[in-house]
Amino acid sequence: MQEYKLFINGEWLESSDGETFDDINPATLELIGKIHKASDEDVKSAIDSAEEAFDSWSSTPAPQRAKILFRAARMLEERKEELARLMTTEMGKVLKEAQGDVQEAIDIAYYAAGEGRRLLGETTPSELPDKFAMTVRRPIGVVGLITPWNFPLAIPAWKIMPALIAGNTLVLKPASDTPIMAIELVKILADAGLPKGVLNLVTGGGDIVGSAIVHNKKIRAVSFTGSLETGKWILGEAGKEMKRVSLELGGKNPIIVMDDADLSLAIDGIIWGAFGTTGQRCTAASRVIAHEKILPALLKKLIERTKKLRLGNGLDENTDVGPVINNSQLQKIAKYAGLGKSEGAELALGGRIAHPLPGYFFEPTHGKRYSALSFPCSLPATLKKRYG
Ligand code: NAP
Repeated sequence: MQEYKLFINGEWLESSDGETFDDINPATLELIGKIHKASDEDVKSAIDSAEEAFDSWSSTPAPQRAKILFRAARMLEERKEELARLMTTEMGKVLKEAQGDVQEAIDIAYYAAGEGRRLLGETTPSELPDKFAMTVRRPIGVVGLITPWNFPLAIPAWKIMPALIAGNTLVLKPASDTPIMAIELVKILADAGLPKGVLNLVTGGGDIVGSAIVHNKKIRAVSFTGSLETGKWILGEAGKEMKRVSLELGGKNPIIVMDDADLSLAIDGIIWGAFGTTGQRCTAASRVIAHEKILPALLKKLIERTKKLRLGNGLDENTDVGPVINNSQLQKIAKYAGLGKSEGAELALGGRIAHPLPGYFFEPTHGKRYSALSFPCSLPATLKKRYG
């Protein structure tokens, strides 16, 4: 079984106490890797290396930094198919979506590399004599990056590439469910010529490794994508030290379908919004609010279309919907289906853990619930509708 190590000061290292955790394929429950679990000491050493590398990296001209990012972008492009397959194996999303995730990493790498020649400042006239007023862009310092599992390559890349081009040095902690994708990205950047210490990677649980990053005084900013609960906690803890914090958190997104809508277009949008990435996106649509006139037709067609969705391993090209990420998410979804019913919703389709598939699969599910809604006054007053 392949072991995946920590990346500290340009070297792949075992965790100092030798502990590892398992990385599981959510579609088959097969073990795909043993991941080293960073200790407090490992996190500290990763942060110290990033601090040590800061002076040299931040004083490297941005167009030179960009050359490394351009190389990394090309390497990502060359490995797109292989990385997408690995992503499907580790995270479960269907291959087409995994290809899109890798493409996002490629795009941000090129975009950020282009910024190497556009780190522009501003000049502005001063009201004082003999004064020249201007702004220049300066890096912040050592930045902690904490990422979730649902976009396992794109999100680390969205954080790493802009931070690097601006001259920061980094410590990345990926989600424990998808560390291999982040490890592959770090390998690519190292092979593209990133100097040692500029990007460090520590794997392990949020409570130990994530928390050690957030609390370390040398970390000047934290960029986090994940759940609202963790985001609130990070904001509070980092705020105590006046660290800068960037948060991208969860969403609860409705799709509104009016009586003049093109229903087949609406259904395409709902199916993609609800079941794309098995509904595990911050941009996923968890509700449809429909005009009462079209509600019966919409629901009928929606259920017909949803019944055709094929659950399975995302590597199989016939699969429309892959597994959810882990058993705790599977149980949470089952709990929500029950909660919806107890709060008065009717189950229109699905609602159960899918058997006999070996992995973490949940049936594509629709609930319906009728109730009059008052819309905010910015919408036409005639919109007193029902949602399902
Ligand atoms: P999560 O539980 O908050 O975990 C996200 C990351 O934070 C993981 O790396 C996790 O480590 C780490 N973490 C957990 N507790 C921590 C702590 N106390 N201190 C520091 N780090 C900690 O969220 P998730 O379930 O993985 O991610 C799904 C969420 O991300 C959903 O709510 C989704 O909507 C949101 N999301 C938002 C966007 C956006 O752009 N707004 C994009 C994608 C996803 P472990 O993996 O080790 O637990």
